[in-house]
Amino acid sequence: MPNASIIAVGTELLFGQTVNTNAAYVSEQLQLLGISVLYHFTVGDNPGRMKRTLALAFEESDIVVTTGGLGPTQDDITKEMIAEQMGAPLEFDEEAMARLDAIMRDIGRGNYTENNKKQAYLPRGCTVFYNNAGTAPGFALEAGGKTAIALPGPPREMKRMMQESAIPYLAGKSDSVIFSKMLRFYGIGESALETALLPIIDGQTDPTAAPYAKEGECAVRVTSMRRTAQEAEAAVGGAIEQARALAGAYLYSTEDEEYHEVVVRLLRERGLVLCCAESCTGGLFAGAITSVPGSSEVFDRGFVTYSNEAKVALLGVSKETIDRYGAVSEPCCREMALGALARSRADIAVAVTGIAGPSGDTCGKPVGTGYYGIAWAGGVEVHERYFRNRGRRVNRSAAVLELCDTIRRKLEGAGGPPEKKILT
Ligand code: ATP
Repeated sequence: MPNASIIAVGTELLFGQTVNTNAAYVSEQLQLLGISVLYHFTVGDNPGRMKRTLALAFEESDIVVTTGGLGPTQDDITKEMIAEQMGAPLEFDEEAMARLDAIMRDIGRGNYTENNKKQAYLPRGCTVFYNNAGTAPGFALEAGGKTAIALPGPPREMKRMMQESAIPYLAGKSDSVIFSKMLRFYGIGESALETALLPIIDGQTDPTAAPYAKEGECAVRVTSMRRTAQEAEAAVGGAIEQARALAGAYLYSTEDEEYHEVVVRLLRERGLVLCCAESCTGGLFAGAITSVPGSSEVFDRGFVTYSNEAKVALLGVSKETIDRYGAVSEPCCREMALGALARSRADIAVAVTGIAGPSGDTCGKPVGTGYYGIAWAGGVEVHERYFRNRGRRVNRSAAVLELCDTIRRKLEGAGGPPEKKILT
């Protein structure tokens, strides 16, 4: 299987003025072709250093992809350096010149300067990648069993050339296919998950399982590289089954879905309608659910009852409950869920009341404490959950994830999903 390195050319990258997004994009595309990426290099517009970087990259890599430095100015030297490194002199390319002419006329610059013509010179024997989004052409050049691919710097031009020319060119070189899935877990810490999944993480070369850190949850990318797509898919499928056996209780998606997307899908599959009563999340949960296309089928309404008065007036929470236990309490949450269920056409109502912080250690309960309730025609359940205080924004997002989890567990739980409510 061929391997590759990427050289991003441009002094502005070294200054930190431009973030090197090209390398990330090219890497991802190469991986999809089954070409492993060994190194990312970044080098300024300096002939000596560029030459040394090219030589270094080619030492270990079959393919070197460069981005940037193909333009018409003096400091655009990528093409010249590759030509020199690979022993292919630059030659005038009629078609490149004709295209350049047409572009310049098009943009009303018929009398362009001499240095623009520099772009019509390309290494002898290369495969030209004409630029359909700009002026500078790119190319592929082979010599001594090595391949250089030169792409322009502007991301828009680079991506288009990668898709239209470089990928089809490289596809012929790869003898394997990559397949991968992102697994999403909630309710288990990163290290506990890694320990649980050790049999598929440790010492595995194919498929591989790589943990990713995410806010309030964990993700694991399972990847296989095989001769055919079917083989790679089957290998990933096997690893997912193993992950399910090892930590299935926490696995909420194998398709890299957000938790609220999963909730909408599960509700739709079961033909159930949801409503919510939110205190500390202030509508964030309803916002997440309704951000999913098609959520109108499964979402009836949301009550944002921030104040005690609103909880009483809109949900029928009793004033005595609030006076006696406080708004952040199990009884209040229970009444919120039941009140929302009764005041909507939903089959399931969820409720949350908690302390989002950053301060507000009220009623003896620390920031991060929350009560999560779920009510349906046959019953109501409330649980307390404490999240370490990580600031208001994260605390609120954590509460939304917990609500999603509350719903998934109910829908997929041993007792089966709740019955549909009979509307009278
Ligand atoms: P042209 O001269 O036709 O614009 P070029 O191939 O000479 O193209 P550069 O001059 O190196 O490209 O870069 C042009 C612009 O593209 C840079 O100013 C920068 O904004 C962007 N760019 C270059 N390299 C990268 C990179 N690695 N990641 C993200 N953006 C980049």
